[in-house]
Amino acid sequence: MSIEKRVVIKIGSSSLTSRHGEISKIKLEKLANEIAQLKDAGHEVVLVSSGAVAAGYRKLGCLKRPDSLPEKQAAASIGQGLLIESYSHLFLSHGYVASQILILRSDFLDESRYQNVRNTLNVLLERGIIPIVNENDTLSTERLNFGDNDTLAAKVAGLVDADQLVILSDIDGLYDKNPTMHKDAKLIENVPEITDKIENAAGGSGSSLGTGGMKSKIEAVKIAMASGISTFLGNANKENISVDAVGDRAVGTYFNSKKSETTLNQKEKWIAFHSGSKGEIILNPHATDRMVIKRKSLRLKEIHQVNGRFENGAVVRVMDTNDEEIARGVVKVSSEDLQRMLQDEKDQAIDSTVIMEMGDFVCHLDAPITVGM
Ligand code: ADP
Repeated sequence: MSIEKRVVIKIGSSSLTSRHGEISKIKLEKLANEIAQLKDAGHEVVLVSSGAVAAGYRKLGCLKRPDSLPEKQAAASIGQGLLIESYSHLFLSHGYVASQILILRSDFLDESRYQNVRNTLNVLLERGIIPIVNENDTLSTERLNFGDNDTLAAKVAGLVDADQLVILSDIDGLYDKNPTMHKDAKLIENVPEITDKIENAAGGSGSSLGTGGMKSKIEAVKIAMASGISTFLGNANKENISVDAVGDRAVGTYFNSKKSETTLNQKEKWIAFHSGSKGEIILNPHATDRMVIKRKSLRLKEIHQVNGRFENGAVVRVMDTNDEEIARGVVKVSSEDLQRMLQDEKDQAIDSTVIMEMGDFVCHLDAPITVGM
């Protein structure tokens, strides 16, 4: 059978739980039915599912969803297995095998480990398996995590070069203002680009169960757009929502994106979203345009100052004189050597030494660089 679309579907906790905060079997069944329909039609599907804490807190002995981090992580360690067991069982009843991938943000800091996860996901998808991805909630730390599953899903979509990201929530899509507070809020059905107006509409975070709210969904959309991936945002409770979303006929919000010259390639995605950064290079006032607009390699004579310690090959933040990050990329020289070269009496040969090669950096205009360290 030919492959139709490669799709990443993200579902939030609030769309998998009952009113009391426990996992709802009916909601899980509905999702599995729809994903099985997509598989039957020849699509490849990665599921990014929250819900580990919700599936485990009762068995931990808590009467309600816990608030403290150690209790949440303990609940997740019980719930993640139970959740996957339920999904596996449901998918098998449709003739499909599911797999579990738990990711830590630190797994992606190293480019070769990032590529490893990519290779694994590709093998699973090519063999017709349904990978179920979640952040490793039990081990992740607040200092170093993906933040929420919306951005994790967008990054996974970029990782597998998906055709579409589908975010299922408890709301029909993006409204022009928060619909839980404003009765006259109107659904926005098509968003060709993320403007200030769209960001303002998304406001702050939403329900007590989810961690992200609409703001984190817009962040996720921006990451998907930088990767040339369209996103659909819609209500998980609607009949056949996933199937209709992939068929481009669902009611909700479509954020359209096309692959273009500025779409990030895999290396650029890793630099922009996963690499972290070790130090800073501050440019001379007139050097910004050459890098951002002309995309030329960064040379020694354009550097004003170097902050922090980094090795040759590290990813470093490039700042303008107003302390704004304008790019991020891989350096060819360590901070120690760079400091020494800057102090040396300048001769022309050293001056034009390339410090960051064309193609080894991503400018801030291309992508929302969301992960600093
Ligand atoms: P999930 O758990 O599915 O990830 P969240 O609860 O985190 O979802 O986010 C969805 C919530 O965001 C909605 O229920 C709504 O309360 C809130 N929200 C805020 N602004 C908007 C908006 N402009 N359009 C839609 N929902 C919004």
